[in-house]
Amino acid sequence: MNIILLGPPGAGKGTQAGRLVEKRDMIQLSTGDMLRAAKTSGTEMGKRVAEVMDRGELVTDEIVIGLIREQLEGDKKGGFIFDGFPRTLAQADALAALLEDCGETLDAVIEMQVNDEVLVDRIVGRAAEAVAAGGTARADDNAESLKVRLMAYYKQTSPLIGYYHAKGDLTSIDGLASMDEVEASIAGVLG
Ligand code: ADP
Repeated sequence: MNIILLGPPGAGKGTQAGRLVEKRDMIQLSTGDMLRAAKTSGTEMGKRVAEVMDRGELVTDEIVIGLIREQLEGDKKGGFIFDGFPRTLAQADALAALLEDCGETLDAVIEMQVNDEVLVDRIVGRAAEAVAAGGTARADDNAESLKVRLMAYYKQTSPLIGYYHAKGDLTSIDGLASMDEVEASIAGVLG
């Protein structure tokens, strides 16, 4: 079973993906995590994406599609959870082609609905928690980047809601419920 978790920054995609990995032996493919790993690796690609990410803008489709392509080649375990990908219509088309190439299907797209105020609170809270725990906040977890990230979501990613709705793949759930309730809603969709 291969699924997409769709929703704005701070919607809780990563948290729910983590639970699905544990409970269903699925593989979480987070392009955000992959790009952060590339950023710290000091490679040419890492340097190129660092500034774009820190500003809160999207990196090029070519880069993220390449990252996903590499991951689809190995063991598929309980299936893939696409987390933070696709984020543009071009990425969605590319994903459909990649899945077809490896004989896989897309089984569900779950939109986690939340409102902007909650997102801002969650992300600012996440940054503060990281600092309080003695770590550092993500470079893009600040008010300025967050505005850009939200705008990128509404402009470039939210059209995917209509796209997957038209394909009959979309289910929208309430992302404002508790983590356990959200987990239960997702389980209801996956069966
Ligand atoms: P969030 O959704 O909480 O903002 P992510 O970890 O998913 O965080 O992504 C962080 C950043 O990584 C994005 O703001 C963007 O710069 C980049 N990124 C992640 N996934 C993609 C993608 N599919 N396409 C383009 N850029 C991406």
